[in-house]
Amino acid sequence: MSASIRLVTTYVYDFAEGNKDLKDLLGGKGANLAEMTNLGLPVPPGFTISTEACKAYLAQGTVPTELAEEVTEHLGRLEQAMGRRLGDPEDPLLVSVRSGAKFSMPGMMETVLNIGLNDASVAGLAARGGNERFAWDSYRRLLQMFGATVLHIDSEHFSDALDAAKQAKGTAADLDLDVEDLRALVGTYKKIIVHHAAREFPQDPREQLDLAVKAVFDSWNGERAVLYRRSERIPEDLGTAVNVQAMVFGNQGVSSGSGVAFTRDPASGESGVYGDYLQNAQGEDVVAGIRNTMSLQELEGVDKTSYDGLLHIMSALEDHYADMCDIEFTIERGKLWMLQTRVGKRTPEAAFRIAHHMVDDGLIDDNEAVLRVTGGQLAQLMFPRFDEAAERRLIARGMNASPGAAVGKVVFDSDTAVEWSDRGEEVILVRKETNPDDLRGMMVSRGVLTSRGGKTSHAAVVARGMGRTCVCGADDLDVDVKTRQFRIRGGGVVHEGDLISIDGSTGEVFDGAVPVADSHVVRYFEGEAFADDDLVDSVAAIMGRADGVRRLQVRANADNPEDAARARRFGAQGIGLCRTEHMFLGDRRELVEHLIVAEDEPAQAKALDALLPLQRQDFVEILEAMDGLPVTIRLIDPPLHEFLPDMTELSVKVAIEDAHGKHDMRQIRLLDAVKRLHEMNPMLGLRGVRLGIVIPGLFEMQARAILEAAARRLRAGGDPHPEIMIPLVASIRELNVVKEHIIEVAKKIQEREGVEIPFKIGTMIELPRAAMTAGQIAEAAEFFSFGTNDLTQMTWGFSRDDVEASFFSEYLDAGIFPVSPFESLDTEGVGALVRKASEDGRATRPELHLGVCGEHGGDPDSIHFFNAVGLDYVSCSPFRVPVARLEAARATLEQSS
Ligand code: PEP
Ligand code: MG
Repeated sequence: MSASIRLVTTYVYDFAEGNKDLKDLLGGKGANLAEMTNLGLPVPPGFTISTEACKAYLAQGTVPTELAEEVTEHLGRLEQAMGRRLGDPEDPLLVSVRSGAKFSMPGMMETVLNIGLNDASVAGLAARGGNERFAWDSYRRLLQMFGATVLHIDSEHFSDALDAAKQAKGTAADLDLDVEDLRALVGTYKKIIVHHAAREFPQDPREQLDLAVKAVFDSWNGERAVLYRRSERIPEDLGTAVNVQAMVFGNQGVSSGSGVAFTRDPASGESGVYGDYLQNAQGEDVVAGIRNTMSLQELEGVDKTSYDGLLHIMSALEDHYADMCDIEFTIERGKLWMLQTRVGKRTPEAAFRIAHHMVDDGLIDDNEAVLRVTGGQLAQLMFPRFDEAAERRLIARGMNASPGAAVGKVVFDSDTAVEWSDRGEEVILVRKETNPDDLRGMMVSRGVLTSRGGKTSHAAVVARGMGRTCVCGADDLDVDVKTRQFRIRGGGVVHEGDLISIDGSTGEVFDGAVPVADSHVVRYFEGEAFADDDLVDSVAAIMGRADGVRRLQVRANADNPEDAARARRFGAQGIGLCRTEHMFLGDRRELVEHLIVAEDEPAQAKALDALLPLQRQDFVEILEAMDGLPVTIRLIDPPLHEFLPDMTELSVKVAIEDAHGKHDMRQIRLLDAVKRLHEMNPMLGLRGVRLGIVIPGLFEMQARAILEAAARRLRAGGDPHPEIMIPLVASIRELNVVKEHIIEVAKKIQEREGVEIPFKIGTMIELPRAAMTAGQIAEAAEFFSFGTNDLTQMTWGFSRDDVEASFFSEYLDAGIFPVSPFESLDTEGVGALVRKASEDGRATRPELHLGVCGEHGGDPDSIHFFNAVGLDYVSCSPFRVPVARLEAARATLEQSS
């Protein structure tokens, strides 16, 4: 291979070669380090091994051969820039090796610091800094991290040895260990490595580097990373980049330290810098919450020059990224270094407030503000809060790390959290501090409470990312995992299983279960005015803009006047699905029973006549609540046996009565009907349009109730727009049969009442055959509404009642789909049917109105798909309406950008 070809770097890039838009290739951390380098900020030099190298490694199972050469070349440049060689015994260059995927996965993958130290270079480091203690402390940290990360030794072996050394010294603080103690600890750590990994710690610095890089690649498929990706819906195949960077040291005495900072408060969104700083510490100590930190403002008193420099950089970064940034920095003996920046994770509340304030600050425009928030975040703001009027007993106060009101039973570890939540209990995970292994427990808990660590601790960052309520650093609590209890400084003990309530918006911890109340955002949507509520103002401004830009209309699924009215207050532009079978439940069940057991047409007609006035009144009320807006009423759909008693129970009852010589004819007839209607696959049986065809008069009765209700509303001066929708149609012939009857009914009513009723007849598209013959069906239908619940069921052949609980977890594990297709539309399969049916339907009838009323109508990703396909509206539950309005706007903006 010629030298010129080798110069074309494939896998490794110097920081100076990248920029913030290269996240796919360099990962988020690498791309932003490159951006900061090019902005001239003080970034320790280094290089990034690309995600392509990781993907090649994961695919082949070995490190690509070209990589070693490229690392040598870039390491050479780094050594030149620093004027030191990696691991040089006289004056060593030390490097950090850090993961960095396209999407931030805090704490989920590996980091090894201080690569390049060995038995010889530790002396060189000591001589250079004139600080022997620091050199040996750095060496023991390398052994610890390398042992745990690269050689997969349980980190407890190292922390136990550290604790033993401190105990022998009679101290609780790492800083009290002197050179001799640390030298001895290094010896102990080496023995731990030999014992548990059956190999010596590699003294060759380059071997250390190569093994660390490989360990970072491997950590992409580590358990925590896989779990985190699944919870955050991060694709499996992206791989991680690896950043190799010259070390700077925050642990060189009190003029050094490490910190994490945000350009605005990530919890509340308030303006003004926010952060934690830890003197004489490396970055990992800050995020691990090992010692309680000082606030960024306190740094001003400790090192004003660095503080001023930092604020200047933070402001420049926020202007440059036009977004809230979070940063990691280190001060090495008074010199400030930037180790990381990225657009910071934030709570939903902060997201709305920051987006709104940034418009006011002139950093972004209104449309960008809409793109900066998500429907998922809005949904979280609609969660309840603790009722301020309720009685409560405050037992501790920590930091408001991730908002929400969580009530649950205290558990002290992940296994218990998972076990208890599996049996249906709501739990709150309480830890001293969390580490990445607690992820499983955090995922199943209602909230997380820690006694140590700041808002930037692992617990806080991860909880915020997952939308989990979190209070951290509640240092009045003495958490004792071994005895399964925590003590409260003011007195009192809380045991595992006791109920507590935590408020992630205020940081308060309460004894027992505090009642919760509606959120202000919900109350605002309900129409309440708030005089001085910055969050409500921010939500209102962004929603106003969203409604101005979205193309998709948003309707609601509602079956009663209360839901319809609420949906309207939440911004629904009509009803997309009124499931009439829900109106047959409750007290009316018996009337339906009469209909089913009726033995002849007169008996059937009598039963229908009894139902008619009830149905009519339902529709009058719903049409009134949605006056002026379309109301899509779906004729009865579910299998009739759902209205009947259980076959086995009824058989036993009848048999017992029989044995006692009693013959209750009603029960006997009912049992006959139950047996007659019993189906092996009710979802594929007598339901929807099939019922309308098989039970004469049923659909006519419903059509009559709808149209008479509309006539009443017209006479009362109302403006009704009913749309009659036929479910489970597979063929235009089915639709034509029922349509003919409905039109006859309509004619009669209009003649009799002397009014012209503005109504439409359309169909659901929820069977693959309907989608495939949509061009024909559109001849008879004025509108289509995609029933994506059934369409998903029928396309995949997945029983919608069973599969999610039975084998979907295995399917998710096997990567067959990243999320249940009942939750988020399978755009490739089910979506292809939606697209085809829309195109074919509109080819037949260009004005065909198209909507969706399956659960997917309220799912953000699915809404983006429906927007792209060109549907006219989505319909979802009333509570999701604001979410859908926002996502519809985001979809429009994303599509046009
Ligand atoms: C659907 O199938 O998507 C639908 C909306 O109807 P239902 O859920 O009532 O079957
Ligand atoms: Mg359906």
